[in-house]
Amino acid sequence: MDTTKGKKCLIFDEYRYLRDRIRNTTTYWRCEKLTGCPGRAIQKGDEPPVISSPHNHDPNKEQNGITKFKSDLKFRIREEQVSLKQLYRSELIKWYTFNPDDVCNLPQFHQIKTSLYRVKNENYPPLPRSINEVSIEGTLNYIKNALFFLAQYI
Ligand SMILES: [Zn+2]
Repeated sequence: MDTTKGKKCLIFDEYRYLRDRIRNTTTYWRCEKLTGCPGRAIQKGDEPPVISSPHNHDPNKEQNGITKFKSDLKFRIREEQVSLKQLYRSELIKWYTFNPDDVCNLPQFHQIKTSLYRVKNENYPPLPRSINEVSIEGTLNYIKNALFFLAQYI
């Protein structure tokens, strides 16, 4: 995801990283606490990142915001007969509107989809996996486009 300053950032294991550099298909991430923390992660292609150097502090305090984002989302999943992706998108845009600098702290759809589907499946039978995967991919592109659009006008 892009921050409002145009820097790439990554949330991994509750730590927040800024992109340091890319070499071939490997992305090097460094802890957002640019001063004083040696925390680093390395990501090869689209594989999950791996910590290459540990942090010297606890994960960031944005966890409260993340918890609220998730609980708002889960509440709406129970209340509204709308697809998960639509709900996620609308909560994300709402959050982005009020907290543009914090949007990077939020979990991406693919990171929380399992727990969201669990909430939804309390009421509905699961959809075939292949259909989910296809529409999630489209939704992520849609969110990226929506955020890009918002970034130009806010
Ligand atoms: Zn750190």
